[in-house]
Amino acid sequence: MSRLSRLQAKGLQKAGDIMIPGDEVLPSFTRSGSIAAADRIVEFLTESDRAGLKGVAVLFAILPRPFVKGLLWLAANANRLPSFLAPPFRELNLGVKGVVMSLYYSDVSMDRKIQGALGYDAKVAGESGDTNVEEAYGRLRAAQSAVRSLSVRDRLDFIRRLREAILAKREWIVDQIQDATGKSRTDALTSEIFGTLDHLLFLEKYAEKHLREKKVPTPPVLMGKKSLVRFEPLGTVLVISPWNYPFYQAIVPITSAFVCGNTVAYKPSEYTPLNGVVEAVLADAGFNEDWIRVFYGAGDVGSKLIDQKPGKIFFTGSTSTGKKIMAQASRDLIPVELELGGKDPMIVFADANIERAVAGAAWGALTNTGQSCTSVEKIIVEDAIYDDFRDRLVKEVSRLKLGVDRDGGADLGLMTNDMQTKIVADHLVDAEKKGARVLVGSEWDRKSRAIPPLVFDGVTREMKVYREESFGPVLPLLRFKSEAEAIELANDTEYGLSASVWSKDLVRASRVADAIVTGNVSVNNVMITEGNHALPFGGVKNSGFGRFKGEWGLAAFSNVKAIMIEASSKKIEANWYPYTPEKYSKFNDLITAVFGSQGFVGFVKFAIAGLKLESYVAKVRSDRVR
Ligand code: NAD
Repeated sequence: MSRLSRLQAKGLQKAGDIMIPGDEVLPSFTRSGSIAAADRIVEFLTESDRAGLKGVAVLFAILPRPFVKGLLWLAANANRLPSFLAPPFRELNLGVKGVVMSLYYSDVSMDRKIQGALGYDAKVAGESGDTNVEEAYGRLRAAQSAVRSLSVRDRLDFIRRLREAILAKREWIVDQIQDATGKSRTDALTSEIFGTLDHLLFLEKYAEKHLREKKVPTPPVLMGKKSLVRFEPLGTVLVISPWNYPFYQAIVPITSAFVCGNTVAYKPSEYTPLNGVVEAVLADAGFNEDWIRVFYGAGDVGSKLIDQKPGKIFFTGSTSTGKKIMAQASRDLIPVELELGGKDPMIVFADANIERAVAGAAWGALTNTGQSCTSVEKIIVEDAIYDDFRDRLVKEVSRLKLGVDRDGGADLGLMTNDMQTKIVADHLVDAEKKGARVLVGSEWDRKSRAIPPLVFDGVTREMKVYREESFGPVLPLLRFKSEAEAIELANDTEYGLSASVWSKDLVRASRVADAIVTGNVSVNNVMITEGNHALPFGGVKNSGFGRFKGEWGLAAFSNVKAIMIEASSKKIEANWYPYTPEKYSKFNDLITAVFGSQGFVGFVKFAIAGLKLESYVAKVRSDRVR
């Protein structure tokens, strides 16, 4: 029996009210009505966790409130207890907190609760809040010369201070991320905080080197000249971000653009505005508020910002919105970089380390509850190990804990919004209708944002879960018999963002990595290319274009200017006027010399042809001047 008895529900509610008593903006646990979803979440627990929770809930129901409060206090402070007493209280803390928080944040009124708590009203923000876009954007434009005049080293001082500010405030930021997204605490800490800090450190270590003026080779025909590349700002860069990594997707592009000398207009997703968080860390680091401004609101605000004709649009989001943005930008020829969706394949060969591949598949598909553009969305397994892999995967994901924890104890958080939850439900219903077997997660009610991992067997090409981006905790399994078939299955998608190949045979893995039409590939790992900020990131096909991060990412936010310098002289270039039949013939000789035989002989021929041309040009010029 997975349902809670009335007594058990009463006990859980008592604990919920002690943990979440409510305040002027947030309703208490009871007032939020969250307990109504208890059976749904309890069903998802393992049998032993469920039995433990039920026992504790009965105890809470019977005991007077001050005792329950005392027990919960001891649980929350288990690390202060003597070591022989601590373990059961620690378990109590993890279990009860996990369930209470999951219930509170998975309830359908989550949006209102969270937005109320943040003082954020989606309707007002959708109309661009109280920000006058033109006026605020004008301030960014006016500040361009100030940011441009800072050296890269000066800008990096701000980046260092920003890293320190984020490091100091990280637990608070993680709270804000969790409140906005419903993700697990570890997902928030590792992907958003670690990833962001790592990027800032990359900038501190390498941005100066990558943005320094570069000398490039000058060919012999241009002898006497110096060829340089300089990296200059584009002006004001518009960054438009999605809701899945609201902190990382803010700070990483903002700072990449700033370090190149741009001011930045940043528009977060209306689903996860993180009101005030980006501004708070930037203020701590001493950024002038006219250098980087946050514009809250929905698509209409993004569109108004494009009307301001930014120097570049850096867009991360869905393919359909990417197309709209590109269409609007084309009217003013605004450069656009598009980081869009994906349907990332994972190919597992029979000789792969199966335990590691199973663990990698679980994490790759479920981290951030599958709401990651580079989530594993198709697991393509060699026939010989398919059954073993599938059974192990079922076991692996069935052990995972779901919840919005405050202590790092939950594996999977919630879906961030109802819109994406509906898409996952649609993919599930479609797959079931077309004959897939749902090995884990079929009990999900197709509504709650607490979606268990969904493992699909018997997936066919007609199913949405095979073809479309699910952006949720889905693990569709496919079989292959030959290398060619695996590659064909991996490439059978309109997307091309990321992929992984698993095999002991690194020559084969590398060959398959080359054959997959995509922007990023990990071998014997998953989503790991994103972990190295020196590597470029971006997609092909419907996953977008442009490369972000690494030296390519810095170039993407710069006007990469070519400069050629020659000392002032009287000399006239051979290809300048006048044109004559004789010059034409000498040019023909030069072309044969330059592009014909190479090496020493070629160089001698070039030198002779060049000298003849030069002396002819000098003669023609002196005749003209006379
Ligand atoms: P979305 O396209 O719905 O929205 C993204 C942003 O665009 C939001 O800020 C939104 O307000 C804004 N927007 C919407 N219409 C606009 C318009 N007409 N003009 C200007 N701005 C407009 O995407 P989402 O649902 O927030 O994010 C999920 C998608 O993002 C998934 O497809 C995912 O794969 C993709 N994604 C890609 C990457 C990547 O790096 N490739 C990273 C994360 C997410």
